[in-house]
Amino acid sequence: MKSFKTLTDLRVRVAKASTKGVPPALRDPARGALVAWIDTAIQYEMPLNAALRRLRDGDAAEAIGRTAIAPQLADPNGPAAKAACAPGCAFCCILSGDDGGTITQAEARRLHQALVPVAGAPDGRAWNAKACPSLDPETRLCRAYDARPMICRSYMSSDVSACEMIASGATVQGAGVLGAHTLYLAVLTLTRNLLRGIVRVPTYSLSRVAAGAVDGLSEDDALNSARHGTHELDDEVARQAAMLKR
Ligand code: SF4
Ligand code: SF4
Repeated sequence: MKSFKTLTDLRVRVAKASTKGVPPALRDPARGALVAWIDTAIQYEMPLNAALRRLRDGDAAEAIGRTAIAPQLADPNGPAAKAACAPGCAFCCILSGDDGGTITQAEARRLHQALVPVAGAPDGRAWNAKACPSLDPETRLCRAYDARPMICRSYMSSDVSACEMIASGATVQGAGVLGAHTLYLAVLTLTRNLLRGIVRVPTYSLSRVAAGAVDGLSEDDALNSARHGTHELDDEVARQAAMLKR
């Protein structure tokens, strides 16, 4: 973490950072959001190492995503206002593949901490083999609701039957993440490129972090078992960007 002497150096480098993996439509928004985050850090005199840690852990990307999602959730004519989502409606917590979605280091640590108290108890997989281990199999409520990652905060639908069909493997429209989630992923990708050679920006599998936590693994072991390789973030950004175009 020694190559940048000041946050102002870092800010200048954002403009030169590679946009590899960042969808073209999100390059300018991601750069602008990252520069604004660094400007705020400068304004509040955040120490350089603290800012680099927050970038590495994904705190910056998450803060940018949450700022972007707020007006989308508040829009009286937007998708959130039309959503059919309700407590106990959990088809969206039946996860495809064994990954469950890309989350940051900060999100992975919070998710693990939230699930430690329920380690060993029956989990969502007792309801559906592909369900998120964070889920309560009886109530079908998320047992890590306050710590749920950005992908869970962003996913919604106006059509429960579409969610049920997607959960059974069908490809249908009617459910998906809000655009703020794709911006969060784009900022995380740009952050990874900005810090390449300085510090690695790790990402994790949501379902494997949750499984490790409820199976009783320590935080370090759960995160090590869930840590992504080099391509998962790029794959996730490309997948979400393609879905937004539909
Ligand atoms: S996204 Fe679909 S399954 Fe999830 S709460 Fe909303 S309507 Fe229910
Ligand atoms: S963390 Fe919670 S909201 Fe997210 S998929 Fe798992 S059970 Fe559902």
